[in-house]
Amino acid sequence: MKKFNPATGLEQSAHLSDQFMVNPPITDSATYAFESGEDMTACFHGEKEAFLYSRHWNPTNMELSKALAAMEGTEMAWVTGSGMAAITSTILQLCKSGDHIVSSMTTYGGTFAFMKNWLPDYGIEVDFVDITNLEQVKKAMKPNTKMVYTETMTNPLLQISDVPELKKISEEFGAKLVIDNTFTPLIFSPYKLGADIVVYSMTKFVNGKNDATAGAICASEEFINSLIDVNNGTAMLLGPVLEPLRASSIHKNLFTLPIRMKKHSENAMFLAKKFKEAGLKVNYTGLPDNRGHQEMKRQMNEEFGFGGMISIDLETKERASEFMSCMQQEGIGYLAVSLGYFRTLFSNSGTSTSSEIPEDLQKEMGLSEGLVRYSVGLDFDIEETYLKIEKCLKKMGIL
Ligand code: PLP
Repeated sequence: MKKFNPATGLEQSAHLSDQFMVNPPITDSATYAFESGEDMTACFHGEKEAFLYSRHWNPTNMELSKALAAMEGTEMAWVTGSGMAAITSTILQLCKSGDHIVSSMTTYGGTFAFMKNWLPDYGIEVDFVDITNLEQVKKAMKPNTKMVYTETMTNPLLQISDVPELKKISEEFGAKLVIDNTFTPLIFSPYKLGADIVVYSMTKFVNGKNDATAGAICASEEFINSLIDVNNGTAMLLGPVLEPLRASSIHKNLFTLPIRMKKHSENAMFLAKKFKEAGLKVNYTGLPDNRGHQEMKRQMNEEFGFGGMISIDLETKERASEFMSCMQQEGIGYLAVSLGYFRTLFSNSGTSTSSEIPEDLQKEMGLSEGLVRYSVGLDFDIEETYLKIEKCLKKMGIL
């Protein structure tokens, strides 16, 4: 057994190396010592691999990153303090002043706002398209297009992006295809389908506990190394790194992700069918007549189902608001933004997570003001949950 050295976390964990640790050790060292000045210099010049400072790499973050890379099939991953940190670091690494981006018009509102309100001030031009219309995507491409950006299942319209076809278009123009897979971890494997970079808000399904904000960037070793380059990497220079204590807790939650995704999908399918039978305008990609159903079937890993996200359209924001308050009082879940929690969450997208999108554009993209988005939870008795929802629909005279 190695001698225990209380001065270094690394050796402390090595002390246990003749036993199996069921969880990787947590290393919360912000800095790391070198044997010699030469070693340190070599590390700064990228000639020696070592931990130098936690904004760059941390052993606990590396354990989580390895697990995420294995999940995605990428060479490497890097973990951030929020999903927006993953998205903005990726975009700013790929695009500089004078470059152009083609993005899905329906993305998470924060992503849309960053591209619409922020990037133009830095000389980066963005064209927003209907990502399901490949002709529109092609037409929007320019010689200076550096990135095509979309979500595998878009927020909140639940459109399905055709990843292999988008890859072909991107490649033709020498652009990178970046996919946000936040709504559908495991259900889609965008990297295997052709994406160059996959980003996550781990705040959602990946962590699943609503006790942390976090993000991830899964990509080639070359791209991840460019992010952490001490001279021009966005991860290194903007400092979006995830806290290692959090990385450790998220890593543990990752192990239950496969069974959680299956259960979210099973419960969402049950509710979607009930909503349809009740005659409501329901959007769930698992329903055979849904516009994204066939596209999803072509690309998905079927064993995980169609995911936990559903929306219903109650036409006005006032009706949506009354309905959501009733559901919260009935104990169905919470009137709260976010998704992927073990309890059901619901919100009115147009006035919350998509409120950054101007109203006229919301109408143009088909986002109804009465849209109620559900992130269906892991309810043990989903039939009972539906009976409570039905009670609210009846109370409001909808049924
Ligand atoms: N991507 C999607 C699809 C989201 O829904 C969100 C947040 O709602 C984000 C990214 C941003 O993630 P975070 O809140 O962790 O910064």
